[in-house]
Amino acid sequence: MNRRIITTLLLFPFMHLFAQDMLREEPFISPLPPSGRLEVTYIANSGFLFSAGTTRVLVDALFLNGDIWESPSKKLQKAMTTGDVPFKNISHMLVSHFHEDHFNPMLVSRFLVNNPKAVLVTNSQTDSVLGRIYKQDPELKRPGQVKIMTAPLFGTETYESDGLKVKCLVMRHMGKDDYKVENLGLLMELGGKKILHIGDAGWEDENFAGFNLQDENIDIAFIHYWFLLDCEGRRIIETMIRPKKIVVTHVPYEELRRDYKRIKEYYPDVEVFLNHMEKKVY
Ligand SMILES: [Zn+2]
Repeated sequence: MNRRIITTLLLFPFMHLFAQDMLREEPFISPLPPSGRLEVTYIANSGFLFSAGTTRVLVDALFLNGDIWESPSKKLQKAMTTGDVPFKNISHMLVSHFHEDHFNPMLVSRFLVNNPKAVLVTNSQTDSVLGRIYKQDPELKRPGQVKIMTAPLFGTETYESDGLKVKCLVMRHMGKDDYKVENLGLLMELGGKKILHIGDAGWEDENFAGFNLQDENIDIAFIHYWFLLDCEGRRIIETMIRPKKIVVTHVPYEELRRDYKRIKEYYPDVEVFLNHMEKKVY
């Protein structure tokens, strides 16, 4: 028996458990957290719910089919869209960019209709994708609920209301193919914490150099997988972001089994959410 087969046999029970855990959806019925406590719930891919008091913010969470990426189940999509338990009284939806593993225009436009107090904060590229849905059904248009950030590339614009302050950082998406895709980095102040969610930002200096994030005293940074594996990405984290804690997003779980040790070597306290609807308190 060669070494590879032995390793596979030894790992099999763990892998099996891991897969089961990933498929399980934990029930989520709990009272609202006090405003000084931040609860983070994993939805799928880069999608999370951030809750503190009555401020409940969905980030990159409502999408239909993320192709090869983790997607919210039909049940969760429906609950988010209709504002049903566990997504009652969502106050804000933030969308970093329009890609289908972060956003679906039909679901988001219906979310706004069903949640008339919720506000969508995003960029104009995402809004123009929503515009195609409005053309088909003008009744879905809710201009009073949509705040479009219009700052130029590498600029910033801040939105503030109801217990949430979010500074939107206009960045380039990662990868040559998506060079023209505008990605909002989201620097949120919520529940007494400072949280950065970088969406699918590329790891070039110009994407971060102008924002002085190293002086922001960031409590938790939500950073995608490839950023953490790239030496340039890690240099940017250590010199230009300097967060106290890192949560991994956009995780290819198959590869994670292989690379998690490597990520842990660089960042021993890194956190990853393995189950949909898993919740952590910060
Ligand atoms: Zn993307």
